[in-house]
Amino acid sequence: MNSNAVIAIHGGAGTILRASMSAGAETEYHAALHAVLSAGQRVLADGGSALDAVSEAVRLLEDCPLFNAGHGAVYTAAGTHELDAAIMDGSTLEAGAICCVKRVRNPVLAARRVLERSEHVLFTGEGAEAFAAAQGLEFVEPAYFDTEARHRQWLLARDQQRAVLDHDGATLAAASPANQGDGEPTPHEPIDPNRKFGTVGAVALDRHGHVAAATSTGGVTNKQVGRVGDTPLIGAGCYADDATCAVSTTGSGEMFMRMVAAYDVAAQMAYRHVSLQEAAYDVVMNRLPKIDGRGGLIAVDARGNVTLPFNTEGMYRGFARLGETPVTAIYR
Ligand code: ASP
Repeated sequence: MNSNAVIAIHGGAGTILRASMSAGAETEYHAALHAVLSAGQRVLADGGSALDAVSEAVRLLEDCPLFNAGHGAVYTAAGTHELDAAIMDGSTLEAGAICCVKRVRNPVLAARRVLERSEHVLFTGEGAEAFAAAQGLEFVEPAYFDTEARHRQWLLARDQQRAVLDHDGATLAAASPANQGDGEPTPHEPIDPNRKFGTVGAVALDRHGHVAAATSTGGVTNKQVGRVGDTPLIGAGCYADDATCAVSTTGSGEMFMRMVAAYDVAAQMAYRHVSLQEAAYDVVMNRLPKIDGRGGLIAVDARGNVTLPFNTEGMYRGFARLGETPVTAIYR
């Protein structure tokens, strides 16, 4: 039995500024991250697999309206929601993913069914929903994903005709004149097109020595209909291999796709023989910034090392080892 079992999660990266966050909101985020980590810890403590732990953690994050996945997902340019998710098992290299679904309550569960019960890896749109329905997964009306906060972010982004990362949208909304009042006032600045993310993810090492990763998102605010980012792409938004590590990313999806960011962490470990920390740091701090890639990732290796680097102002994140109090953080 591996005594280094651990779970790490993220709730997206971006321009998360202390000035745009009330003390109450900050407490809420910490509490939500803590609850999800505790649930993941329980799965691992009971001898559950890393795959079980990451799907349960991401399912809970999808159900939490604070994060841009499932209930609380951002809006497309058409005012709709299109959800993407992926999951990968490091012990078998099996993977499953779905993208552009509109009515599946928990996209990560659909991705897991693809991993377990399909010969394919990635389903899109109607086909993904048909597969999820055939698997008996829960469906909801599209309005289930609506939240007031994301709607406000979308209206602001739409007015500025930009696609915006979720937590940058939140900063923008907080800075809008309508929201000046409590907290420190922040100027109403135009959205920087390079600052836009949200998304949730989990990585885990179980007591049997296996790793897994899962990532789920509503994408970026005001994205074009049909746009798919890095999240559901194995190797870009999610990757897991017992031989190296498990990775879940968040950030400017297009850049993470171009850098094959999640896989690059594993590849650097395998081919350059560097540590998890070194590989992850190189991807986030050196390689992604070369193409203006903003965001971060969480990763664990089979020895129980954990790393959570990001190159933005903040990233909702945390990790929990068995028998220890979960650690959560938001800012740099
Ligand atoms: N990477 C996600 C996407 O591009 C966004 C995010 O991480 O918030 O869809």
